[in-house]
Amino acid sequence: MQFKDIVGQRDTINRLTAVIDSGRVSHAQMLLGEASSATPLAWAYLQYLCCEHRVHHEHGDLHADSCGECPSCKKIASLMHPDLHFVFPTATTSRVKEKPCSSEFQTEFRDFMLQTQGHCDIDDWYDTLGIENKQGLIREMDADEAITTLSLKPYEGGWRMMVVWMAEKMNDSFANKFLKTLEEPMPGTLILLVCESDERLLSTIKSRVQTLRVESGKKKEENNAEFAGMLVGWLRMLFKLKMKELSAQVDKMASLNREQLKLFLQYSLKVMRDCFLNTAAGIDCHLGSGDEKFDSQFPKMITTNNIELIESAFDDAIFAIERNAYAKIALMELSFRISKALKKR
Ligand SMILES: [Zn+2]
Repeated sequence: MQFKDIVGQRDTINRLTAVIDSGRVSHAQMLLGEASSATPLAWAYLQYLCCEHRVHHEHGDLHADSCGECPSCKKIASLMHPDLHFVFPTATTSRVKEKPCSSEFQTEFRDFMLQTQGHCDIDDWYDTLGIENKQGLIREMDADEAITTLSLKPYEGGWRMMVVWMAEKMNDSFANKFLKTLEEPMPGTLILLVCESDERLLSTIKSRVQTLRVESGKKKEENNAEFAGMLVGWLRMLFKLKMKELSAQVDKMASLNREQLKLFLQYSLKVMRDCFLNTAAGIDCHLGSGDEKFDSQFPKMITTNNIELIESAFDDAIFAIERNAYAKIALMELSFRISKALKKR
């Protein structure tokens, strides 16, 4: 997961990367906000932390990102890094009939994360586990295992990382047992809590973590609904390339303020990537046009033959908008490039 895959939250991301670059990473942190926003952020954050070739941008709203290519990046992206550990709420299931704990569900949890790419919440996880009406918890046994895990030498010699996902689900025995580790973990450890609501967390836990509030995804969802309609309208025009209609559609897009336009382009680029992954790896992409035929046919247009052309066309457009280029010209240029790229599928 790279920061560029995350829509919005640029200020938060830039603050996070600056702290990592300065080498003053606090050993216990909490990302507080909706899981579907905080989880991808945590993921990209850990990838940046471990990246062997961090990339710094002179231009653009994103100051830095992981390279996405080095062995560490690949291990974090695939959640295969041997020093990345997860603790999360569990309950008894048809398979684990007693004493549920995170270590019993590692495979399911990683698959779930890979499938959703972190855009998920606790109900999605419960659905995956098939526990329906039961309440998941992070229990004392999770603390025993977490403490042992964090006392071992890191396998790769770098960071020892533990994500406590949905930290508000920890019960008091977990909290009390884990407290000392949270306070004084071995050097080179990062414990990252992802939490939606800290009201249920013991104050002793809260006081030991550095909290970063993550922008609520609600505004983003509202944005995205509007963006989805706009994107689909525009993509349809790109096939027809009737200048008058295309021009009217582009006017509509250009009427967004600069910040919103940038978000729209980032959103659109992400949808394109998801479409590509849909075809290449079967990952869900939600075009959400309300037209089933379009939603099922369009992803097939994005292939290895044109994904790079599409990405660079969007990158250039975003760059142009950031430099205060005339929005309409940048968007027309983008339209022609995307239209051409779509023909190369
Ligand atoms: Zn890297």
